[in-house]
Amino acid sequence: MKKDNLKEQINQYIEKIVNPLCRMADTIFDYPEMGFKEYKTSALLCDWLEERGFDMIRGVGGLDTAFHAVYEQGNGGPSIGLLCEYDALPIGHACGHHMQGPVMLAVADALKNVAINKPFKLVIYGTPAEEGLQGKARMLEKGCFNDIDVALMVHAGDHTTVDVKSLAGARLDAKFKGVAAHASLTPELTRDSLDGLLLALQGIEFIRGHVKNDVRLLCGIKDCVGMPSNTDQTSAEGYVVFRTYHSCDVEDLEKRLTDIFKGAALMTGTNVRVGKSLEMVGKLPSHMLNKLILDNAQNLSAPQILKPHREKTGATDFAFVSRHIPSAVCRVAFVPKGTPSHSQAFLDAGKSQRAHEAIRLGAKIIAGVVVDLIDSEETFQHVLQEHLDIKTAEENVTCNSTAV
Ligand SMILES: [Zn+2]
Repeated sequence: MKKDNLKEQINQYIEKIVNPLCRMADTIFDYPEMGFKEYKTSALLCDWLEERGFDMIRGVGGLDTAFHAVYEQGNGGPSIGLLCEYDALPIGHACGHHMQGPVMLAVADALKNVAINKPFKLVIYGTPAEEGLQGKARMLEKGCFNDIDVALMVHAGDHTTVDVKSLAGARLDAKFKGVAAHASLTPELTRDSLDGLLLALQGIEFIRGHVKNDVRLLCGIKDCVGMPSNTDQTSAEGYVVFRTYHSCDVEDLEKRLTDIFKGAALMTGTNVRVGKSLEMVGKLPSHMLNKLILDNAQNLSAPQILKPHREKTGATDFAFVSRHIPSAVCRVAFVPKGTPSHSQAFLDAGKSQRAHEAIRLGAKIIAGVVVDLIDSEETFQHVLQEHLDIKTAEENVTCNSTAV
């Protein structure tokens, strides 16, 4: 069958099954579950796939709410990963993650049931805890994603687009320890931990003027123990989260910020311990997958296509996967241009007609990309080769931000 006819048949199949899947998205929206606690959502998606004959494993990568579902046709074809997130924010599904599972279910079921006369494998990965908890990084560490050649994901947005870069960085937590003594009678014996922390935060303010424009620094005080009037603070904890689109600058930024904490401790005679967590890598783009997504979106007359496409997104754990294999996210518009994610407006649109249209369209775009990869060995090999080339080029990149 010709590729366009095949896509047309797949789109008709998606039309037949999509309404209940839109209702499933509404159901997920109605019981928002935060990262690592997506028990009901994960079960709902798994049950649906299992009923339709997918080979299911519930709980993979050491995460109860992650899952792995497989359909394989023949041998030796490309193995396509369909990733979906489903965690909510404290205010609910204000990032649209409730739509991702139903989209990928529609894609997987359509590709399984419409006759395709070439070998391929579909692996649907349920990936919990995207919002700040790095579910995908944990899954990767435990060996997930080794059975797929490429990873595709869909995300609701204010434009239909793709992106190239994401933020890298980490969080540094600093714990200052001081020396307590009577602040009035023996002030010379005290060493105030809060002084150290406040100086460090001041130092971080000064560094803002001496970093690349894309660097974000978010800092704050976590805790402070001691009475302010006559006993000096003996323990004070603060943090800084730093982000940059230049992955190669992460090491340098970490060193400079750590030095600020150490310098502040030195100035105040206190001790400081600095710990790093939530390390985030920057995304490696797949320009070829991005192009396939945009071509399919264009052919389906997707709304609010951004031209040129988006260069940057925020920090995302999808970036870890993108360093492992060629990966791309299709953003599908469902809110007016300029509506930010994680906002009340995004939340309010979660069960709208436009949200349902985005599910329908997202499924058709992703299914179209999968058909492109199955249909042409040449395209598929180009995608793999481009990833290797970009990875090699990035390994050889040198940063010029370090002072000598
Ligand atoms: Zn999101």
